[in-house]
Amino acid sequence: MTQKGKIFVVGFGPGDFKHITTRAVEALQQSDMIIGYKTYVELIQDLVNAKSIVSTGMTEEVSRAQEAVRQAEAGSIVSVISSGDAGVYGMAGLVYEVLIEQGWTEATGVAVEVVPGISAINSCASLLGAPIMHDACTISLSDHLTPWNLIAKRVEAAAMADFVIALYNPKSGRRTRQIVEAQRILLEYRSPDTPVGLVKSAYRERQEITMTTLAEMLEHDIGMLTTVVIGNSSTFFYDNKMITPRGYQRKYTLGEEKQPLRPHQRLREENEPWALNQQTGQARDDFATDPNANRIQSTVAIKPKPKKTALEMATAALTMIKGATTEVKVTPKLVQQKIESIFELAVSPGVANKFFTPQQMMTLAEVVGEAGTMEYTPEHQIHLKIPTTEPEVITEKLRAVGFLLAPIGDVLNLKACDFCYGEKADSIPYAEEIQAKLGGLALPKTLNIGFNGCGMACYRAVFDDIGIVYRKQKFDVFIGAKPVGRTAHAGQPVVEGLEPEQLISFITNIVEEYKANAHPNERLFKYFKRVKKILHFTYQDMSSKIEIEPAPCGD
Ligand code: SAH
Repeated sequence: MTQKGKIFVVGFGPGDFKHITTRAVEALQQSDMIIGYKTYVELIQDLVNAKSIVSTGMTEEVSRAQEAVRQAEAGSIVSVISSGDAGVYGMAGLVYEVLIEQGWTEATGVAVEVVPGISAINSCASLLGAPIMHDACTISLSDHLTPWNLIAKRVEAAAMADFVIALYNPKSGRRTRQIVEAQRILLEYRSPDTPVGLVKSAYRERQEITMTTLAEMLEHDIGMLTTVVIGNSSTFFYDNKMITPRGYQRKYTLGEEKQPLRPHQRLREENEPWALNQQTGQARDDFATDPNANRIQSTVAIKPKPKKTALEMATAALTMIKGATTEVKVTPKLVQQKIESIFELAVSPGVANKFFTPQQMMTLAEVVGEAGTMEYTPEHQIHLKIPTTEPEVITEKLRAVGFLLAPIGDVLNLKACDFCYGEKADSIPYAEEIQAKLGGLALPKTLNIGFNGCGMACYRAVFDDIGIVYRKQKFDVFIGAKPVGRTAHAGQPVVEGLEPEQLISFITNIVEEYKANAHPNERLFKYFKRVKKILHFTYQDMSSKIEIEPAPCGD
């Protein structure tokens, strides 16, 4: 019996020598023969000493694999090469299939070693930033060996399940429709703004990187050497990088060195409410969409375009058969899943009203449902988080029972006292007007306006970013309180006895100046301390005590 040879199936990575593994180079250098597609053999020929190189055309994979087996059986060491990883749409499977056809087993046949390489999904991802990071899949759009209907089904399933998708073989000279069809399917489940990265010839001479969106990707050059990376519903662009967050921000504060959860607390059940419960085998449905839904304070849910499902078509057909008058109802076993977002908002019964009606409480319970949460906040609001595809339906129901709605985040909030009696109520319309004009305004940082109906200021307006106190039919205004921390202090009294008709424009001017000039995340007191002037008022250090006119309640 002749000496048995060996087959290396070598993935040489994206194409440059720096990204080929040491084992791959060893394999190529030990080989008597290198077999591969012409362009690839040329890419690596400076690395090899082989006496014979068999380079064949693109479509002759089967003959390449057969030749490799023949040569190895005749005693040669042969490397069959693939770009990227030989096990990803490469030669590894085919070599095994040809061997199996001949009754090969590891014990009796030639030695086979598959040498792994960096596949296009990884090399292209590295050039785009970090788009893979979470559950991802590869789909080849080549239908030369795979029925198109199966490919389309996989694209749809991956789109529906919110996978990051790397499309291999997206387009060639003759196959141009596949990528158009794939885009159409993806748009049924993903937002047109979904980030998409196109990488052509990664780590090769003519490398090109393009950042685009699902809606616009076809306006760019896509070819045989392009990998198309489609983001999931939480992928974003930042500084020309495509990033898919992993979910760390759920447990970690990424801008702080000190973490709110200590290491031993991180795996506790209550800190992972989205995890599979080990006792019940159930997981909460409100986290079922994307890993970062809670992070994104989305007011817009991604709604798939309406599509006739097989169920709807079957229902329509049954209705036709039974006669147009009797509508047939079929209970779906498997309902097509829509992608939900967590809709967050704050509600309160009104600016000056602290009473909830039973009807309001019932509506809250109804819209929040089993899957949502309600949390009472120090701002006298109830913060709602509701998984939904239709936020408008929720806001409509809440408004219909008289709730005041406010967005969450860095916005202007107005918190008023309940104007306990009598003349204090005269100031309510001013509070309502400020709310109507400025409530919910997006700002560099949260800004709370405290509005109190008498000099007692028992709702602690002077400790809000802007404090407004109604006293003797006029207003006192305080700005720049430091509401939190050990060095918390009251605001600086900037105006006493402001005429009511001047109040709204006065407050508006302060807010506008802050909005236009403050740094992102700079709270009003920090801004005042930094610039030393708001309108024509000069900053005073309020850590020292400041005497103001005593003002008994009701005075
Ligand atoms: N075995 C290879 C894939 C071969 S299929 C691997 O693991 O990467 C061929 C497809 O791979 C191409 O159509 C393209 O989509 C992708 N591809 C391979 N090399 C690439 C590169 N250098 N840059 C971008 N895409 C590449």
